[in-house]
Amino acid sequence: MPIWEPEKESMSRQDLRQTQLERLQATLNRVYRNVSFYRRTFKEIDFRPEDDFTEISDIERLPFTNGQDISRSYPYEMFAVPLREVVRVHASSGSSTNPRVVGYTRQDLRTWSNLVARILSAGGVVQDDVIQVTLGYGLLTGGLGIHYGAERIGASVLPTSVGRTERQIKIMQDFRTTVLVCTPSYALIIADRMDSMGLSAKSLSLKYCICAGEPWTEEMRREIEDRLFVKVTDNYGITEVIGPGIAGECLQQCGMHIQEDHFYPEVIDPESGTLLGAGISGELVLTTLTKEAFPVIRYRTGDICSITDEPCACGRTTRRISRISGRCDDVVVVKGINIIPDRIGDILQQIRGERPVFQLVAVRRRRQDQLEIWVEVTEQLFYDKMREQRSLVDFMSRKIAAFIGITPKIKLVEKGSLKREGDRVKPFIDRRLEMTMEDA
Ligand code: ZN
Repeated sequence: MPIWEPEKESMSRQDLRQTQLERLQATLNRVYRNVSFYRRTFKEIDFRPEDDFTEISDIERLPFTNGQDISRSYPYEMFAVPLREVVRVHASSGSSTNPRVVGYTRQDLRTWSNLVARILSAGGVVQDDVIQVTLGYGLLTGGLGIHYGAERIGASVLPTSVGRTERQIKIMQDFRTTVLVCTPSYALIIADRMDSMGLSAKSLSLKYCICAGEPWTEEMRREIEDRLFVKVTDNYGITEVIGPGIAGECLQQCGMHIQEDHFYPEVIDPESGTLLGAGISGELVLTTLTKEAFPVIRYRTGDICSITDEPCACGRTTRRISRISGRCDDVVVVKGINIIPDRIGDILQQIRGERPVFQLVAVRRRRQDQLEIWVEVTEQLFYDKMREQRSLVDFMSRKIAAFIGITPKIKLVEKGSLKREGDRVKPFIDRRLEMTMEDA
């Protein structure tokens, strides 16, 4: 492969629109031919891509794809190529009995590396950089996605993966890391740990920090920049669509450029499904334009943001999405992992034999995001059997940890004490340390 050169990304809006139209046409034809789910849903509305797709706005006739559609197609039903052409498989978090499984052809991996390389270079990364990737390597797309993009640029990659903070700091010092890739809260954990070890971030060679994986705020960005002496950019990626590489900020730090030659973005009202205009917040919906193994059409991400088409000072012509301000469903994001309340309910039901009333509580304590699950006690669970309660709580916690990958703290609460809305108990997400400029 030739040496990476930062791409211009300055295609005129008109050319970009034409590219989107052609690629959408090809994608719709392919999924109609090769993916029974799409053939069925298109037929239901009597839509034949070859005849009925002539301009981009025709896409608005098509039904949305959601996470459950992908789960139901477990593991390979929504792949658009035979498995022998698939060279990599990933799966989304929120693991359950049916995680969302996605595949990549060799060409998909090349595309993906280029997309991530673009985003990393928009965030300042060059060939001379030493880039430390503290995201998880594994079925989740974060670690490996960034890894291949950084190699594509020709930077020196340190695949340290998650955790072991003191070791991460030692590696940053000894290997003279110049770029840190992490979740925003982990950047602050590193800053805290350095403080407690009596180390100054001035002793590091860090220049840039590329953040992703969880909702965060402008205040957190400023704090990371002030304490680690870096410039911090935001980027957006979800496994169901490709992983990292969908959108990322340039050094102007004014929203994430969507890679519109590979993804077609829409923002909709999550209740009615109607399309919203520029600047209006709603649910982000993405259609892939070049993916071979796992194309998605109008995938509802559940993430809330708005799109701006104001020009950016960096010269890129792509539109930008705002920081993700939250979720429009009950999914709780803790440490970059999506936790679906219904899934937790299923696990608790398996343990107790009945589905208890419970609430997911995401709290930030000493900068660490933690998941608590508050479970209402029932007649089956008497207050006086303290020892049994303790072991039950430990058992629940271990059982859930085995499914979702992080260990929740289980709290038993009095019957009837959780606030119900209709027949649901909504998750509680503590944003004390995330008071944003938007909120203020
Ligand atoms: Zn820009």
